[in-house]
Amino acid sequence: MVPVNPHLVKYPFSTEARDASRRLANDVKKLVNLLEDEKNEYIIEEAEARILAAIDQVELKATSRGDSHDVLVYPTSRLIVEKIDVPRLREYQAEAESKAVNKHLGGEKSKFIMNLSQSSFGWNIESLGSAVERVNMHELLRRYEYRITFENFLEVAPSFRSPEWKLVNRMIQAGWVYISKSELTRLISGKFKQLILRGHLDVPELPGRLTQAVQRIETEIRGKIRKSAPLELTETLTTAFPPCVAMMHADSSRGKNLPHEARFAIASFLLRIGMDVEEVIAVFKAAPDFARASAGYQVRHIASKGGGKGYDPPGCRKMQTFGLCPVYLGEVFDPLCEYVLHPLGFYETRAWETTKGITNHSWYASKRKRKQKLR
Ligand code: SF4
Repeated sequence: MVPVNPHLVKYPFSTEARDASRRLANDVKKLVNLLEDEKNEYIIEEAEARILAAIDQVELKATSRGDSHDVLVYPTSRLIVEKIDVPRLREYQAEAESKAVNKHLGGEKSKFIMNLSQSSFGWNIESLGSAVERVNMHELLRRYEYRITFENFLEVAPSFRSPEWKLVNRMIQAGWVYISKSELTRLISGKFKQLILRGHLDVPELPGRLTQAVQRIETEIRGKIRKSAPLELTETLTTAFPPCVAMMHADSSRGKNLPHEARFAIASFLLRIGMDVEEVIAVFKAAPDFARASAGYQVRHIASKGGGKGYDPPGCRKMQTFGLCPVYLGEVFDPLCEYVLHPLGFYETRAWETTKGITNHSWYASKRKRKQKLR
């Protein structure tokens, strides 16, 4: 067994990791052939486990076998996801892989992180020195560890929603944006996410072992992930709204003015499940301060982001912080809320239950891991 450098497994987008993969299999066809060898079966198993963890939104662990072939686990998981070709599955994978990278980077030294971003993405970044070295800098700049060029910052930052990523809220000087170490790790993991979302592989016909893996994942995602066209919003599916959305929807229809965060949450949610812009605008029509032009502008703006798929609706934690989760506030209860971390996860599961006529929810406890405690 030839040992592997753990960094190659943790950071599959790095030049070194890509070179190491290429040395073992320099194109997709070679990779497919190599995976047919019985002794490499563990690679498919690990890749499959990685995809399943991404679907279940649990933390991805770095492959621990310690063999040089471990670098093929990530490309194999990408190969399987590309073969299945379901956009939502690719999104789950991108989200989980990027979170794993962000977590690993949290334990790395500043110099390593800077070098990784420079060599992997060609970013122009400069270190501002250690805390001691920065002591003589202007106090507004002292807390930052790096500066990155404006162009490189803008490759990723607009995909983050928090206000601190907006340029107007940044410290900028002569074309450089000042950033902290945790912000650099966020930019790196965000860039990796983009690469997964935008990268498409031409996958050839797959032989036995890989085809079986593809079929197993397809079975797993059936009902969990919407395949292609957004679900059609019908009277039945409004009953699949999570309590948070149902409440905002009802308040809006009753003519109550919703706070800004609630408008964003409900608009981004409804757009993501397939409502068109006009239908979403209509949801806000009863509000006393409704102004068609500005509502239209805001909804169109939300819909146009993320390469046309719209802004990501906020997850449960954010909804709870905003005071928009009625379950967290103890106003209503639905057991499914404890098994999801995102209103979309709630919606997909409940819509599936609705179409199957499932009303007994006791299966959550046997099939799913509880993700939050709300009572
Ligand atoms: S737990 Fe999540 S899905 Fe359920 S009501 Fe709260 S925010 Fe919505």
